[in-house]
Amino acid sequence: MKRRDFIKLAGLALAGAGWGRATQAADRKRPNFVVIYADDLGYGDLSCFGHPTIRTPNLDRMAAEGAKLTQFYSAASVCTPSRAALLTGRLPIRSGMCSDRRGVLFPDSGGGIPASEVTLAELLKGAGYATGCFGKWHLGHLPPFLPTNNGFDTYLGIPYSNDMDRVGGAGRAGITNPKVAYFNVPLMRDDKVIERPADQTTITRRYTEAAVDFIQTHKDKPFFVYLAHNMPHVPLFRSKAFEDKSLRGLYGDVIEEIDWSVGQVLEALRREGLDKNTLVLFSSDNGPWLTFNEHGGSAGPLRDGKGSTWEGGMREPTIAWWPGTIRAGSLLTDMASTLDVLPTCAELAGARMPEDRIYDGASMVPLLTGTGPGRRNIMVYYRGTQLRALRKGPWKIHLYTRTEYRGQTLEKHDPPLLFNVEVDPGEQYEVGARHPDIIADLLAEVKKHQATVKPVPSQLEIPLPKA
Ligand code: MG
Repeated sequence: MKRRDFIKLAGLALAGAGWGRATQAADRKRPNFVVIYADDLGYGDLSCFGHPTIRTPNLDRMAAEGAKLTQFYSAASVCTPSRAALLTGRLPIRSGMCSDRRGVLFPDSGGGIPASEVTLAELLKGAGYATGCFGKWHLGHLPPFLPTNNGFDTYLGIPYSNDMDRVGGAGRAGITNPKVAYFNVPLMRDDKVIERPADQTTITRRYTEAAVDFIQTHKDKPFFVYLAHNMPHVPLFRSKAFEDKSLRGLYGDVIEEIDWSVGQVLEALRREGLDKNTLVLFSSDNGPWLTFNEHGGSAGPLRDGKGSTWEGGMREPTIAWWPGTIRAGSLLTDMASTLDVLPTCAELAGARMPEDRIYDGASMVPLLTGTGPGRRNIMVYYRGTQLRALRKGPWKIHLYTRTEYRGQTLEKHDPPLLFNVEVDPGEQYEVGARHPDIIADLLAEVKKHQATVKPVPSQLEIPLPKA
């Protein structure tokens, strides 16, 4: 089904269900959604997740008023596939938004999110929501792939990573030392470039102001805000007010500005009286970029970081906030994933998910509202198109491992490595020899999963069309 037809159909379905001419009163009952997504933030980089020197009072308060999710996964360990999974509710291998040759989309990429995918924004727009995207997109920078052609009413942001379009300074020094290189990345409003290079020192602040402005403008109807910061992906930038403030140095300054941003958004919701009717979710697209040393974050107790299918690559510091609905101070240790966000929002918005495709998640409503357990018992860990690990309950097998970005070779494990990631979240103690039955069970799950996968052409390998 073409996307536009789907939106129309979704609208009709909603009309049939009584939403079509929903009064403002009825509309107000449907919650707003705000998804705040950091870039390359590690599991251990917030005070409320144990960082000893980064101060995040706003995120700490958000967690104290809401729920901390300690076993929450992104569906990939790098940017493009991770974002595709969040916005489609499907593993990137089903949409073609992953590749073994190129991990993510680049400015010379000609592909992007396929028109056949139904994004969370399209689903919610079809259900009458106002939709705004502020920040990093990274699902294609050519017109058909931009946010405003994928369900968002409006967009302000850098359409890919902030270290792209680099001018000067080859190698790592060029990324971490602003004196030797700059990044000619565009800042776009809707489908137009409005600034190039984007002034990245003010980027976190400007995304925040745009998101707050959108909330104020749309306070009388349901809305979906996707606030996807470009930070703390290297190169690191922060505004004047945050310069040299954090004990953790430059990286800490950057996180503390993101924390300020979260405070601004939650304060706007309180000010407009929307706090009891808005689900806010904070998470990150993948783990810390460890090869950048002190410019990269920390996965805390978890092993490895960005690019890896060890826990540190994909388990993210996640907070859910919805005063009056999510019990304040909850610690939710059930497994969940960004793949579950779309089904969650669909359920709460009364939007019907298309039935012509496989979804890889389930609604988190019971988990978040305390009315039932989490519905996820399995997590699969892909790098590109390769399934490298699978978790079922507390057990995780690794079929392949590789510590990414450090020149290691890929290691195949036969029999697979086995860890109990609840007893041993740091994946330090391999226990396969003691549990051949568990390995066999998880291998059967691998087979079952793989039988559902029909690989599609990679969008990440399509070159830019010649001008
Ligand atoms: Mg990232």
